[in-house]
Amino acid sequence: MRSRAAADRCELADGYAPFILAVASGKGGTGKTLVATNLAVLWADAGLSVLLADCDVEAPNSHLFLPARTDKLTSVESKVARPDSQACNACGTCSDLCAFGAVRILGGTPVVFEEICHGCGVCVSSCPTGAMGECSLRVGEVSTGVAKRSQRLRLVTGRLDIGQVKAPSLIGATREEAERWDADILVLDAPPGVACSAVAAVRHADALLLVTEPTAFGLHDLELSLMLGSDMGLPIGVVVNRDGSGPTDIAEFATAQRVDVVGRIPFDRRIAEVYARGGLIVDELPEATSWLRTISSWIEDVAEGSAPSAADGLRERAGR
Ligand code: SF4
Ligand code: SF4
Repeated sequence: MRSRAAADRCELADGYAPFILAVASGKGGTGKTLVATNLAVLWADAGLSVLLADCDVEAPNSHLFLPARTDKLTSVESKVARPDSQACNACGTCSDLCAFGAVRILGGTPVVFEEICHGCGVCVSSCPTGAMGECSLRVGEVSTGVAKRSQRLRLVTGRLDIGQVKAPSLIGATREEAERWDADILVLDAPPGVACSAVAAVRHADALLLVTEPTAFGLHDLELSLMLGSDMGLPIGVVVNRDGSGPTDIAEFATAQRVDVVGRIPFDRRIAEVYARGGLIVDELPEATSWLRTISSWIEDVAEGSAPSAADGLRERAGR
C-alpha cells in the first residue's frame, strides 16, 4: 500500500517510503487508539509490514494493546538558549529578535523562559558579544520494538518526561525514528486536539482518519479537526465510534463538509470490555474485521489516488 505522495517521496529519496496514515481526533477518549491498533493488526495479519508510531507522547498507550520487545531506546533532547550574564552587555538584541518571546531582559540580565524557547538559535547567532549560547535538555525518549504478536508489526513509542512541555519536538523525533524503518504502512496515533502537537504528528501524512462520536462534543471537536486536515490538504475520512450512542448526526455534518464517513464502530458493551482489559476487537469480536475492512478499503482508495482530497472539497466550497 503506497500512495502517489509516498511514491513521489520514494523517488526523491531514492529509497523506501511507506504510506503514512494519521489517526487523530479533536478530543481524547474517542477511540483513536482503538482504531489505530486494530487497523495495524488487521494489516499485519493480512501480510503487510506495519509500523505503528504512538505520537500521543503525553499519554502513549498503544503498547498496552500491542506489547513489544524493545530493541532500541533513544533519549531525546531539545536545544534551549543559555546566556552567560558575565559576557552580556544587556543590549537587548536577543529579546528584540526572539519570535517566541522566550527571552527578556530583566534587571539588566537576559532571562530565557525554557518552556517556550524553540531552540531556533536566532539569539545565539545575533548576539554581538557571544554571550548567548545554547544547551541541550532531555525532553523524553523514543522506544522501538517488534510487537510480540507479529514480526510484521513494529511499534515506535514517544514518551514525554514528566514536567516537560516540548511535545512537538519529541513527536518529531518519534516520527523520524518511525520513518527510518521499512514498512508498507506507517500508522501514526496522533495526540488529541488541534494544537502544535497534533500538527507535528499529522503533517506530511498521506491520509487522515478522524475518529469521533455522535455527540455534540464529538461534533464540535470534529469540526476543529476537519479545519486542521483541510488546511493541510489531506484526504480525510471520518470514523464514527460508539455509533448509536448519541443523537448527533455526524454523517449529515460530514456530507455538508464534503467529507466521507468511512467507517462506523457500534456502541457495544463488548467493545468497552475488550478495550478495558487491553484486548483487541479484531481478535475477539468476529464482526470487528468487517468494520475495520470498511475503513481499510477507503485507505486503499486513497493510496490508489481514487479518493477525493479535502483540498478538492475546500476548493469546491470556495468556488475555485
Ligand atoms: S544579545 Fe547577547 S549581549 Fe545582547 S542582551 Fe542578549 S545575551 Fe546579552
Ligand atoms: S533560541 Fe530562539 S526561541 Fe529560544 S530564546 Fe533564542 S531566539 Fe528565542
